[in-house]
Amino acid sequence: MKINVTRSSMPPFDEFVEEVKELWETHWLTNMGEKHQQLQQELQEFLKVKNVSLYTNGHLALEAIWEALDFPKGSEVITTPFTFVSTTHAIVRNGLVPVFCDINDKDYTIDVSKIENLITEKTVAICPVHVYGNICNTDEIERIAKKHNLIVVYDAAHAFGVSVNGKSVSNFGDFSMFSFHATKVFNTIEGGAICFNEDKYITVFNDLKNFGIHGPESTEYIGGNAKMNEFQAAMGICNLRHVYDEISKRRFVVERYRNRLSNKKGIILCEPQVGVNSNYAYFPVVFDGYKKTRDEIYELLKNENIYSRKYFFPLVNEMECYANSNLVVHGNTPIAKRISDCVLTLPLYADLPLETVDMICNIIIDCK
Ligand SMILES: *Cc1c(COP(=O)(O)O)cnc(C)c1O
Repeated sequence: MKINVTRSSMPPFDEFVEEVKELWETHWLTNMGEKHQQLQQELQEFLKVKNVSLYTNGHLALEAIWEALDFPKGSEVITTPFTFVSTTHAIVRNGLVPVFCDINDKDYTIDVSKIENLITEKTVAICPVHVYGNICNTDEIERIAKKHNLIVVYDAAHAFGVSVNGKSVSNFGDFSMFSFHATKVFNTIEGGAICFNEDKYITVFNDLKNFGIHGPESTEYIGGNAKMNEFQAAMGICNLRHVYDEISKRRFVVERYRNRLSNKKGIILCEPQVGVNSNYAYFPVVFDGYKKTRDEIYELLKNENIYSRKYFFPLVNEMECYANSNLVVHGNTPIAKRISDCVLTLPLYADLPLETVDMICNIIIDCK
């Protein structure tokens, strides 16, 4: 049997059928219908945030934030290359310039001590990533942003349901983007959301995801189309009922991995962050000075039909579209490079049997 790095969470079939039944009565399939309204409301409560705007996917939600901010073309955004390409693409596709800052080697989020050196007169924002669900140093980022008058946009795609000292992660910075892609802890098949406090953006985001149309006879913005449809919203409503259960099952898997793989020479695990209620989104393992390299472990697992992922490899700044490009400012990112060359994320999902976790750990530990 093939073991993939993840497996999408799905509600019981009958529960979903029950949820979408009404759609055959209303014939209302998209354009901010009742399911959309309901999911938005429930997420505002779940994420303890004032405003949620739903999108058809996380990437277009991220792009909508940059569209709404409407900074002059060529303005700079400080971010990290240790992320999924979406973070960088969203910045570049909106005419802005990503400036790559290194990550720290503890939780792989942006190294806050290196941000201020990268600020120029063109800098308008910081776009940190809560990578693997690890939370950035939000206090320090807030301090820097205030001091230099910068906007903070968090890529929180990995951080659904995480809280820090009781505070929901969706409340940090000016905006947070969540992804509800099938592979994420909470999914709406595809989907995403923007969380924000300032009410003036409610209509902006509503309009931007619907061609910029403000009313039947009024089009204010040159918007795209990024609406979440009723089937996606229905999937979200069902999955949200089970998300705590899913997260607690993931926790057992992570604890098993941690028990088996900690204190092994050459194997580095991310330590749990103090005060953080994790969502157990990913289990990254760094092989540094281990008897086998990351690539060798990847192959060993693959030979046993176990598909881990080199996540994130290659680094975004080394991808063909950016490597020799002046669309980005490369900066000096040696830690991101080292982690990217050594990291492997192991299979992790709610129903992954602990025996399989043991099997994976045995392959890693017993290799010659
Ligand atoms: C998944 C992901 C995105 C994009 O989300 P989609 O919903 O797939 O468009 C953006 N950033 C990061 C870090 C992600 O993991």
